[in-house]
Amino acid sequence: MFDLIDFKAMLIIALIFIPLEQLLPLHGEQALTRRHWLNDVFYLLFNGILVKFGMLAVVGAAMLLIGRFVPEGLTTAVQSQPLWLQAIEALLIADIGFYVAHRTFHAVPFLWRFHAVHHSIEEMDWLAAHRVHPVDQILTKSASYVPLFALGFSSEAVLIYVLIYHWQSVFIHSNTRIKFGPLKWLVASPQFHHWHHANERQAYDKNFAGQLPFLDLIGGTLLMPDRMPEKYGVDEPVPQLYHQQLIYPFVADAEPAAPIAEASPAAAAKSE
Ligand SMILES: [Zn+2]
Repeated sequence: MFDLIDFKAMLIIALIFIPLEQLLPLHGEQALTRRHWLNDVFYLLFNGILVKFGMLAVVGAAMLLIGRFVPEGLTTAVQSQPLWLQAIEALLIADIGFYVAHRTFHAVPFLWRFHAVHHSIEEMDWLAAHRVHPVDQILTKSASYVPLFALGFSSEAVLIYVLIYHWQSVFIHSNTRIKFGPLKWLVASPQFHHWHHANERQAYDKNFAGQLPFLDLIGGTLLMPDRMPEKYGVDEPVPQLYHQQLIYPFVADAEPAAPIAEASPAAAAKSE
């Protein structure tokens, strides 16, 4: 049985990223206790509970539906490969799933309301990485996990992917100026993902991949200028507290001041 709240992993991540952001900050003026940081601590501590139960339900249901259609010869072939090869394939397949789901969340106005919660981050840091609406997190992660389970990848290969995803997702949101040189086309970096969060028109609907930027190159959605963004977030009025953000996607239409369909980056890009 998994831990509902993995305090040990949270503590290790905090003990690594808090000093790292102080030593090598991208935005040096940004305070450790920046705006809404406590709300993101709440996400860090408790959001995972909803996500874990949701994923059990969605991945379980998906496997019941599609599992029987996967040829046994295919899963046997996958499992007969060495672990290192399975891990590389798992990473690639999972990130393709992530790319497609993430792009869909930007393109479909109703789904965008869920994802707008994550894009409401105005100051990027390791903690902000955890601000994801559970529906967004459950569906996007399921798009990565279901193909891996359906194809029969070994639990070790899936675990390697999960660990890489978790650490990298925190790192790419962090307020650090670590750059990857030529590897930036292969491995997602803060430079790559900060541009995904930039509140600049040229950056809307760019850099969807979780780990592998070349997927955006193939998909025609890559953006990596040499400078770093100065402004992050969205213009629409996403509320600031956890419980308000949970219900925001369901009540967003009632907001007369800024209709979501006009304010979302996806819609703005479409109207260009
Ligand atoms: Zn996004």
